[in-house]
Amino acid sequence: MKYNKKNYDYLIVGAGPYGSIFAHEAAKRGKRVLIIEKRNHIGGNMYTHKEHGINVHDYGAHIFHTDNKEVWDYVNQFTEFNGYINQVVANYKGELYNLPFNMNTFYQMWGVKTPEEAAAKIEEQKVAAGISGIPKNLEEQAISLIGTDIYTKLIKGYTEKQWGRKATELPSFIIRRLPVRYTFDNNYFNHRYQGVPVDGYTAIFEKMLDSELIDIQTDMDFFSDQTTLLEEFPKTVYTGMIDQFFDYKFGELEYRSVRFENETIESNNRQGNAVINYTDAETPFTRVMEWRHFDKKADEGFTIITKEYPQNWDRSKEAYYPVNDERNSALFKKYHKEATKVKQVIFGGRLGNYQYYDMDQVFNAALKAVYKEFGE
Ligand code: UDP
Repeated sequence: MKYNKKNYDYLIVGAGPYGSIFAHEAAKRGKRVLIIEKRNHIGGNMYTHKEHGINVHDYGAHIFHTDNKEVWDYVNQFTEFNGYINQVVANYKGELYNLPFNMNTFYQMWGVKTPEEAAAKIEEQKVAAGISGIPKNLEEQAISLIGTDIYTKLIKGYTEKQWGRKATELPSFIIRRLPVRYTFDNNYFNHRYQGVPVDGYTAIFEKMLDSELIDIQTDMDFFSDQTTLLEEFPKTVYTGMIDQFFDYKFGELEYRSVRFENETIESNNRQGNAVINYTDAETPFTRVMEWRHFDKKADEGFTIITKEYPQNWDRSKEAYYPVNDERNSALFKKYHKEATKVKQVIFGGRLGNYQYYDMDQVFNAALKAVYKEFGE
């Protein structure tokens, strides 16, 4: 097999951001790396492909956003960003609202025009719902932040279809991902740096991995040969599912999956926005992306939209989201303890760390791992 022919220093399992950054940095330090990837492409879930001049994100919308200047400067070595600012619109049974929760949303929901009026309305609804003290779950957290009306119309239905469980059974941190603002500001993120790469995300990985010291083997499943691979390589960076690495010996961690339906339409503008969320419980998809609005460019006369449908995860499906509730967090701790005993393997990425990481957090974690590995 190919991997027997050279003296590699590292085996990297998975060509997503964590593995690719590690590979790039190892090669920069003169190390020889083999990346194996079970899919037929690099880039992990950041992968994009081009159609009709439009960069389509194959695994859902990826908007790079961060406050971390080191990470921002790092990613900018490999691409230019286009200044895109994410401004999501919610459609609840035909009513349109701006997201994240801000003065525009409060005005659309209640007609309130000042921050004081909005705060009073939210406080009134929070008291009426009997919420006080530290929120125990996502529902309590949401009502205490933005009141019952917004919870009912913009959060409950979306959240329960997204996660396939009751909002009362979900951890409160998930809803704290979204800003709540008493200003007329529709920016979905609070971060200082934001954008989408002008040439799509795949180009970042092509540049990152362009080295004589890096070999890439796609369509290769680590688990077809786990024991031999671990024996043959002095060190492995593993970015797959941590429970699978240990053959699920403590039981399966839960993940949430999604599937995508793409449609090419002869139009220059189908929905007027990059992302529209459908926040009622009945619509089977959570959101619709129209990719040309991310790039702000496309071939004349074509647009591509993608509907995102949440689905249960099983071993035949892609694991997208870790479900960080109490049961899974406790189970992950057991696997993590096991992982610390396997000294020649570094576990990283969303699946290797079972964390709901954003891209910048993966970049940051990979850079930290590099510094640790090379004693810097
Ligand atoms: N959420 C919601 N309504 C929305 C958008 C988001 O209730 O219209 C909640 C939902 O629980 C979701 C969480 O906020 O899982 C985080 O949303 P985000 O957009 O950050 O999710 P991601 O893009 O990572 O899927």
